[in-house]
Amino acid sequence: MKGAGKTSLRERAIGNSLPDYVSGDDFMTSTSALNTTQSSALYERACKAIPGGVNSPVRAFRSVGGTPLFMESGQGCRLRDADGNEFLDFCSSWGPLISGHRHPDIVTAVKDQADKALTFGTPCEGEVLLAEFILSRLNRPGMEKIRFVNSGTEAVMSALRLARGFTGRDKIIKFEGCYHGHSDSLLVKAGSGLATLGTPDSAGVPADFTQGTIVLPLDDENAVREAFKNFPDSIAALILEPVPANNGLLLQRPEFLKFLREVTRENGTLLIFDEVISGFRLGFGGAAEKYGIDPDLAAYGKIIGGGMPVGAFAGRSEIFEKLAPDGPVYQAGTLSGNPVAMAAGLAQLKLLTPEFYAHLEKLTGILRDEFNAAGRNWKIESAGSIFWFYRGKDAPRRADQIEREAMTEYAAFHAHCLERGLYLAPSGYEVGFMSSPMEEKDVRALLDAALEFFRS
Ligand SMILES: *Cc1c(COP(=O)(O)O)cnc(C)c1O
Repeated sequence: MKGAGKTSLRERAIGNSLPDYVSGDDFMTSTSALNTTQSSALYERACKAIPGGVNSPVRAFRSVGGTPLFMESGQGCRLRDADGNEFLDFCSSWGPLISGHRHPDIVTAVKDQADKALTFGTPCEGEVLLAEFILSRLNRPGMEKIRFVNSGTEAVMSALRLARGFTGRDKIIKFEGCYHGHSDSLLVKAGSGLATLGTPDSAGVPADFTQGTIVLPLDDENAVREAFKNFPDSIAALILEPVPANNGLLLQRPEFLKFLREVTRENGTLLIFDEVISGFRLGFGGAAEKYGIDPDLAAYGKIIGGGMPVGAFAGRSEIFEKLAPDGPVYQAGTLSGNPVAMAAGLAQLKLLTPEFYAHLEKLTGILRDEFNAAGRNWKIESAGSIFWFYRGKDAPRRADQIEREAMTEYAAFHAHCLERGLYLAPSGYEVGFMSSPMEEKDVRALLDAALEFFRS
């Protein structure tokens, strides 16, 4: 077993804030049925110029073995790589591509804007249009102001700073198994006991930066109560993915989410929903709308940019009065509200009708129900058009309930799918996404491959 040390790194990351990217390459899976000549050559060059050959770690295929495929083009729900292999795309660029690749409305919007200007560094109409569209369509009492940034990481980082500035408090609560981007104070894993303060989960993050981050298990009211008891009047915000989808799909009990709303209100703590995945995915209003719970702040990303880099955070005017230039909480961005990205986002969000979601959920239901009815020891958990393959009897609600040993099997399944032209995220901790160009036959291709694999 070469790379045993790496496996233990993986184990350390499991159930904590990091997505899957540190596991060993001790199980190599075969993708021999594919011609990967061009991808392999590109990867070799990439590794000489770019750390690990990738610009985001999980793309490196470390947890499924083999080397990454270099993609060349996409159309609808299909991807084509540098060797001309075609795949049905269930990764959807990790969530953004809810309308698939190159939807004509989005491409036209981008081209039209590109003919006018790529960036101004001044305000432009596109920002106003997108802000108005989102706030009016969300139509939630607490969603009065929105600011655009360039990524989900920035959205969450800025929302937390605003929460601290607004409350005048320093500490935050986050949950094991929720990922909130790679800003320093959120790269934390839990200490041994409940309600302990976090220690950094990544090299290069000073312990001081995470001292204010309290990490708790999901699905555990008592742990939350205890944290509020141990740190009275000092917790600025409690943040979570209301539909945790970065470490498996850890669906929470609605009562737990309601409890979080109540307990934060009682303690003068802001509730922040990280809807970077769930926003515009579970429905236009994301998890807040699905569960009927209004957070104080919400962070968005992924779908909001229609494939361009956009993030945003939104909430009540009273809170946003504290944000620069109106207030003392600083936040800025050279390319924030970029006109091309705003145009892509608006074109994307205009496509999101109730029928649009009904189509996606029908497809997801077929995959989940028929797979689960087959009665294997693997199952599918889903939320809206998000799905996740897990091994075990009951769907996990907490990070530590995920069967780690199952990940070797997932690696083999991933290779099995690639050979059949099905592109899944290269890690068993990652979820899959349906996109609107998909039809029942596309979903059946994945279903058949999954039944075939897990039967043997
Ligand atoms: C993807 C993601 C982020 C980080 O967004 P980036 O655009 O990758 O910076 C934050 N929170 C959640 C829930 C995410 O899924």
